[in-house]
Amino acid sequence: MSFLQIDAVTKIFQLGKDRITALDDISFSLGGEEFGALIGPSGCGKSTLLRLIADIIPPSQGSIRIGGKPPASARREHLIGFVFQEASLLPWRTVLQNVKLPLEIVGRKNVDHGAPPEKLVELVGLADFKNAKPGQLSGGMQQRASIARALALRPRILLLDEPFGALDEITRQRMNLELLRIWTESQTAALLVTHSIQEAVFMADRVFVLSSHPGRLAKIVKVDLPRPRRLSMLRSKEFFDTVNIVRDALFSDEAAYLREVDNSDAGNDE
Ligand code: ADP
Ligand code: MG
Repeated sequence: MSFLQIDAVTKIFQLGKDRITALDDISFSLGGEEFGALIGPSGCGKSTLLRLIADIIPPSQGSIRIGGKPPASARREHLIGFVFQEASLLPWRTVLQNVKLPLEIVGRKNVDHGAPPEKLVELVGLADFKNAKPGQLSGGMQQRASIARALALRPRILLLDEPFGALDEITRQRMNLELLRIWTESQTAALLVTHSIQEAVFMADRVFVLSSHPGRLAKIVKVDLPRPRRLSMLRSKEFFDTVNIVRDALFSDEAAYLREVDNSDAGNDE
């Protein structure tokens, strides 16, 4: 059953006289407890796509449904949680106070389904730091706090825009495992933007590969690794093969170009 449904979505930005087609005719769906990864070169429209889903900007054409509802309704009903690349926590509030913020904004009586903030802080492994201010935390811990905040209104889908992009490799790997655990426990759909092929394959049930200028869906790659995912899988043949399929899809334009160059070289030799 698909929870997120994206049908023929196109997004055109008007920049002065110029029209930039950021996304062109994108269609795919995501199951209610599926983990999707969105990968593609810089500028191919990944962030734009998340912003369309989250009702931050409207599509130029096409339709988006979240649990059968248009993004504006889904947002009003708090079906969507968003984690940005920067943790964007309020520096004068403690971790716990930051996690409580969405509940305060919405008003507790308007939320019958909010998750207890203390439990969320525990879920992301920050129980000992609940009274710390963001400035006292490492980058990885700040992102944990923003994941907890994104889950505060118990969303049904978690949108993550390169959440660990600023972290070092080792911390990032640890955070990815944590994110998978959190996702499993919170029983949401997840759509993770990344530009790491390994990360996409390690995390996702399916990888959506975008090509750029304009952003088109080049390929959907299914990942057949079992869950829960373990670091040892990074060395498995399935992992390696799937990474290669995603890489080929990502570089298919380049591959065609390189073949052309090869062919013309061969021609010159004759
Ligand atoms: P990605 O996240 O994949 O790096 P973006 O979604 O940020 O890419 O951007 C896709 C394209 O849309 C880029 O060419 C970018 O310059 C353009 N774009 C994004 N947001 C805007 C905007 N608000 N106004 C004009 N152009 C935009
Ligand atoms: Mg982006």
